[in-house]
Amino acid sequence: MQDESRSISENSTWGIRRRFEQGKLHINHNKFLGYDKDEEGNLVINEKQAKIVRRIYKDYLDGKGPNRIARELEEEGVPNWNGKPKWYESSIRKILSNEKYKGDALLQKTYTIDFLTKKRAVNNGEVPMYYVEESHPAIIDKEMHTAVQLEMERRRAFAEKYNISKLDYATVDNPFAGRIICGHCGSTFGRKVWNSTDERLRRVVWRCNKKYETKGKKSCENKHINDKVLYQAFVNTFNAMVENKEYFMEKWKEGLKSDNLLKRYKARQFIEILKDAKIVEEFDVDMYFRIIEKMTVFDGKKIIVSLLDSTEIEVAI
Ligand SMILES: [Zn+2]
Repeated sequence: MQDESRSISENSTWGIRRRFEQGKLHINHNKFLGYDKDEEGNLVINEKQAKIVRRIYKDYLDGKGPNRIARELEEEGVPNWNGKPKWYESSIRKILSNEKYKGDALLQKTYTIDFLTKKRAVNNGEVPMYYVEESHPAIIDKEMHTAVQLEMERRRAFAEKYNISKLDYATVDNPFAGRIICGHCGSTFGRKVWNSTDERLRRVVWRCNKKYETKGKKSCENKHINDKVLYQAFVNTFNAMVENKEYFMEKWKEGLKSDNLLKRYKARQFIEILKDAKIVEEFDVDMYFRIIEKMTVFDGKKIIVSLLDSTEIEVAI
């Protein structure tokens, strides 16, 4: 009985592999956002869900973190693939890296290890994998999909360089988290609230995380900075871009020719933003996340604002 079951399973596994090799696909996807299956088992775009997938990709390239994307979808009651308005940071990350959305398929990501219980395991090379391009209609074009993978890598490298665990956790209320860098020692700045019984005296300041270093090491002497100055630095930066629009437009038009698809995407996005932009007076948090990489603070005298198109603008304070 057991032998029989095993040989049937092995046969069917072999059969599935054969079909992969012949390019006849059976994608093990039963349910995932953006696609339905037709009677023959082909993936067809579910337009209503595809809209949500496109929004998630765009939100990410607009500088939002996966946790914020998940929270906003929940707050708006947007249904996931199972019809429930429940979203997790981890599932947003999976959607952002899934090659299926650009029309490709990686087959045999998992394989059967126990033929009786049908237990499956992640395939780390134990059985062959097949990568099939353009196996079904794409929801995200290849350029945008690649731009997202490069942006993930950019954020990972940034977080590693500055030793930040919460880069993607900056929020509308705390947009500077992980993005203010010390011009003296290269460490990040942390947020401190100076409380007072008098509400008018309550202040939020940012100061170098190495200001009070552990014994034996010299502490950093960089001055703290009031968060109002940081908000103003964004306003000044944006207005400097508006005032020098021609200069920047030329630069971004060059960026459109870049081989790097993230640079190309950002160049197009910056052109779109600045095309009709006017001088602003107030901080705009969505714009901030779209264009700012980091702000480096030098001794309470100046801030160098680094934009996501790799421009740097110096702001006197
Ligand atoms: Zn410092």
